[in-house]
Amino acid sequence: MTQVATQPTASHFVNGRYVEDTAGAPIDVIYPATGQVIARVHEATAAIIEEAIASADAAQKAWAALPGVQRGRILRRAADMIRARNRDLSILETHDTGKPLSETLYVDATSGADALEYFGGLAASLTGEHIPLGENWAYTVREPLGVCVGIGAWNYPTQIACWKGAPALACGNAMIFKPSETTPLCALKIAEILHEAGLPAGLYNVIQGRGAVGAALVGDARVDKVSLTGSVPTGKKVYAAAAAGMKHVTMELGGKSPLIIFDDADLEDAVGGAILGNFYSSGQVCSNGTRVFVQKGIREAFLARLSERLADAVIGDPLDEATNFGPMVSEGQLGIVQRYIAKGVEEGARLVCGGKRLDKDGFWITPAVFADVTDDMTIAREEIFGPVMCVLDFEDEDDVIARANDTEFGLSAGVFTRDLTRAHRVVARMEAGTCYINTYNDAPVEVPFGGVKMSGVGRENAKAAIAHYSQVKSVFVRMGRVEAPF
Ligand code: NAD
Repeated sequence: MTQVATQPTASHFVNGRYVEDTAGAPIDVIYPATGQVIARVHEATAAIIEEAIASADAAQKAWAALPGVQRGRILRRAADMIRARNRDLSILETHDTGKPLSETLYVDATSGADALEYFGGLAASLTGEHIPLGENWAYTVREPLGVCVGIGAWNYPTQIACWKGAPALACGNAMIFKPSETTPLCALKIAEILHEAGLPAGLYNVIQGRGAVGAALVGDARVDKVSLTGSVPTGKKVYAAAAAGMKHVTMELGGKSPLIIFDDADLEDAVGGAILGNFYSSGQVCSNGTRVFVQKGIREAFLARLSERLADAVIGDPLDEATNFGPMVSEGQLGIVQRYIAKGVEEGARLVCGGKRLDKDGFWITPAVFADVTDDMTIAREEIFGPVMCVLDFEDEDDVIARANDTEFGLSAGVFTRDLTRAHRVVARMEAGTCYINTYNDAPVEVPFGGVKMSGVGRENAKAAIAHYSQVKSVFVRMGRVEAPF
């Protein structure tokens, strides 16, 4: 087994320390670039799950009772430590996911640090309000929810661990995080760093496992909130299970987002946006604009320039910083992508370029562009979660808006045009939680992120996340006598 230098030392991080229980079913961690096993973790047993929940429950109240400024200081210290260790953490992220170091150095641990810094800064200013009622008055208190569970997808394991952990902890909650079984390593390092930064034991536990471990956490009566990043089918199950216990939820689910490019768009920017919105992280991004609607007048120029720029993709060793396109995360995900590409060809779409499996170890496929795609094709309707761009033609603004919204998903939407009036008019009608004008897939922590329709409920990041990790208590105060009817 090839080991990574910065690898965590055990499967779980519970109650302030690494713990192992080899009675749990093994999960091999595979480096997607080579297909080699680089680590083995074990699923959490019932005893580990119990320790994770019990220690979180025991630690949460004292944490909530601390002044916000003290909680925030610990989060901001962790942010500084993450930045100082960015290279090591990025190398680990690359091994966990296969994403090239040229990405992970800039968007994974660093965006996690941004979240800890941002919510660490907010922790001291989470207050209620004073409500005058004539001579009487009321006030509100913003209280934590209690024990929160975070369940992650495999595409951004460090970022997801921080996007859920940072607001939860800032609000005075405890967090139990279950990473995706495909990428179990990175969240453990976040737990390690948070505790090194001074977080009391039990407040950020990481336990491993497949869906059943997630379900056990969601079903426990001591858990008050569940935040899932995953697919729509999993989201439905987790939402239903959480509803049985009337728990709070945040659902960050899948998408099939539209990217609309008008004739008057800046061609280089539009092509760049389409590349970012389809091929970054080898297309494994929930908010990707995979239905690229291109107005007839710019269509040929767009396809020609796109093909030229795709020739500059550097596909190779993810640890080489010159590489800008990595493998699929797993053999399974590669198979899914290959089946969709075959389906696209079968249903009559034109494969302009890419979509070829590389003849080497690991899970490699070249970025694929389909043209002549129609709205009813499978590749235009279902989330693929891989590097497959569908180019669809349009002529009329009203028509493209209707077609863009004709999907069960509603995560993101983008528009490229030089006409700013049109840009705002179009995004106003987009059924999507996050919209982009002349850009695509920016996700700074200062801006709320989340979906509508089947893409989810709730918001991550920004001040909006506070509402999803806290609740309001109202307190009425009577200054005069109580006048009862008898
Ligand atoms: P997935 O739904 O297969 O798994 C997500 C997580 O849920 C995993 O940790 C898994 O173990 C867990 N899980 C599965 N069944 C469960 C159950 N019954 N109870 C509790 N937990 C359970 O998703 P994936 O394949 O890991 O990730 C890809 C999906 O995630 C895509 O659909 C993508 O769009 C979505 N995603 C969304 C966002 C977002 O912010 N909206 C971000 C990244 C990925």
